[in-house]
Amino acid sequence: MSETIFSKIINREIDADIVHEDDQCLAFRDINAQAPMHILVIPKKPIDMLVNAEADDQALLGHLLLTARQVAKDEGYSDAFRLVVNNGEAVGQSVFHLHVHILAGRDFSWPPG
Ligand code: AMP
Repeated sequence: MSETIFSKIINREIDADIVHEDDQCLAFRDINAQAPMHILVIPKKPIDMLVNAEADDQALLGHLLLTARQVAKDEGYSDAFRLVVNNGEAVGQSVFHLHVHILAGRDFSWPPG
């Protein structure tokens, strides 16, 4: 997988507002927040998009969700938050390093646009 902005954040080559880090993942505030709370959770393992995750990544994918839940709780939004994973340019993926968006703090419509 080629280098992305997110691999540079993992390697500390560019700054980010990091709210959580462990051996498997990193969570940091989105630079272009779409809600009062908008944080991205990314695996340290370079997976470009969800469709290319493998069976061996099962525990890692579960870890990303549990981390997203914990971050939402820590930010004070345990009662209502939305998780989004864009898979592919056609649905809005712009950075090709897997990431889970955590959004909260405003009204959200359904279905999403
Ligand atoms: P997506 O469109 O699903 O690929 O989401 C990529 C997200 O990364 C967007 O919401 C961007 O605002 C965010 N983003 C891009 N560059 C940075 C950065 N340097 N630091 C934090 N978030 C970023």
